[in-house]
Amino acid sequence: MNSQANRPDLSNLWMPFTANRQFKSSPRLLSKAKGMYYTSTEGKQILDGTAGLWCVNAGHGRQEIIDAISRQTTDLDYAPSFQIGHEDSFRAATAVARCMPEGMDRIFFTNSGSESVDTALKIALAYHRARGEGHRTRLIGRERGYHGVGFGGISVGGISPNRRTFSNSLLPGVDHICHTHDPEKNSYVRGQPEWGAHFADDLERIVALHDPSTIAAVIVEPLAGSTGVLVPPKGYLERLRAITEKYGILLIFDEVITAFGRLGASSASDLFGVKPDLITLAKGISNAAVPAGAVAVRREIHDAILAAAQSGIEFFHGYTYSAHPLATAAIMATLDIYEREQLFQRAASLSGMFEDAAHGLRGTRHVIDVRNLGLVAGIELEPRPDAPGARAAEVFHKCFDKGLLVRYTGDILAISPPLIIQEDQIDQIFSTIGEVLATID
Ligand code: PLP
Repeated sequence: MNSQANRPDLSNLWMPFTANRQFKSSPRLLSKAKGMYYTSTEGKQILDGTAGLWCVNAGHGRQEIIDAISRQTTDLDYAPSFQIGHEDSFRAATAVARCMPEGMDRIFFTNSGSESVDTALKIALAYHRARGEGHRTRLIGRERGYHGVGFGGISVGGISPNRRTFSNSLLPGVDHICHTHDPEKNSYVRGQPEWGAHFADDLERIVALHDPSTIAAVIVEPLAGSTGVLVPPKGYLERLRAITEKYGILLIFDEVITAFGRLGASSASDLFGVKPDLITLAKGISNAAVPAGAVAVRREIHDAILAAAQSGIEFFHGYTYSAHPLATAAIMATLDIYEREQLFQRAASLSGMFEDAAHGLRGTRHVIDVRNLGLVAGIELEPRPDAPGARAAEVFHKCFDKGLLVRYTGDILAISPPLIIQEDQIDQIFSTIGEVLATID
C-alpha cells in the first residue's frame, strides 16, 4: 500500500483518451498485476475483464516473458533497426508469420497498432506504385472503424470525435463504406448475425463513384472492437474480399484486437476463412509486456515492392524501435505461451459458456443489446436522454469499486478478458455488471 505521502504529483501527466480533470479529482491507480488480477494502490484486487486494453491475452506477469525480457536487456539492450539487424528480429518475424494465413509471411515490425495501420496504408500505396499503378491513391475505411490515432489511421477511421478536431488535416481522397450495425435486425444475436452481408455492397457504390483505378486499399476491422463490438454478419467479409479482388483493390484487415486468440483462433482471417492482403497486428503480439506491433504482408506484395526498386533501400519507412530487442524477446516468449498452453483453442472452448453468461444480461435494467464472438462481448445500454455515455461511465466506476475492470465506449460496455480466464471468473464478470446495473439510474 502506498502511503499518502508517497503519492505522485498528478498534474504533469496529460493522460491519453482520459477525462483528465475528473480522473485527477478521483484517481484509480494500479500498482501490480498477476494472472487475472490487478492490484490497486489501495491494495484492492481487481479482476481484469478487459485484458488491459484488449492486449494481455496470456494473463499478467508471465514469468517466461519476464525472463526473456530480462535476459535480452543484459545481452543486447538495443540494436539499430536500419541497415543492420539482430538475429532475434528474424526469429520473431518467423514466429509471427507462423500465426498468419499461408503466404502472408513477410513481417514489418512497428511499436503499436497505430504505427501498424499507417505502415500498412503506406505499403498499399507503395505496392500500386511499384506496379505502375501510382494513380491508385484512395484509401477506403468504414464508418465506426477504429484504426489508431496516426493521421492515416484517423483518416480511414470512422469515429467522429477522433476526427473532428483534425478534420481539415486528414488525408485527401479517403472515403468510407457504411458500418454493419443494424439493431432492428440484429439485436441479441449470438455470434455472427445472419443479416447484413449486403452491407459490403456499399463498396460497389464507392467504386462506381471514384472509379476503381483510383482506389488503393480498403481497411476494416474484421470485428470492430473500439466502436462497441460489432460482429461481422455472415458472408460480409467474404463479399468484401470478392469485390476488392474484382477491382484489384488491396484488402487490409486491422487485427490489432482480433489476432492472437481473442476470437478463438490465431486471427480473424483464419477464423472466418477470408484472406486479406495485409494484416495489422499489435497488442496480443507481445502480451503487452513491451510495446510492439507488426504488419503481415502477402509475399507477392513484398516482392513487387522490392523488385521495383533499382537498388538500395526499397521502402522508405521504418522506426528506430522496429524489432526492438526487448519487443522481439517478448513476442517470441508470448507466442510460445500461446502455443504451449493452447490458448487460442482454450478461448474457443470457453466461448460458448462466455456467450451464455453475457446473454444472461438480457432483460437486465438498461440493457438494450448484447453481442459476442470468441472472448469478446459488447453490452449496449440505453443512453440517458440528456447525458450520452454517462450511464456506462457510472457502470465502469462502480464495477471498479466492486473489484472488476470493464471498458466502455459511449454507452457500450466491452468485455475481453485474458484467455486464461476460469469459468467462475466469467460468471463473476457478468454477475457484477448485473448487480451494478440494478443499482443505477
Ligand atoms: N487498430 C485497432 C483495431 C485497435 O483496436 C487499436 C487500438 O485499440 C489500434 C489500431 C491502435 O493501437 P495502438 O493504441 O497500439 O496505437
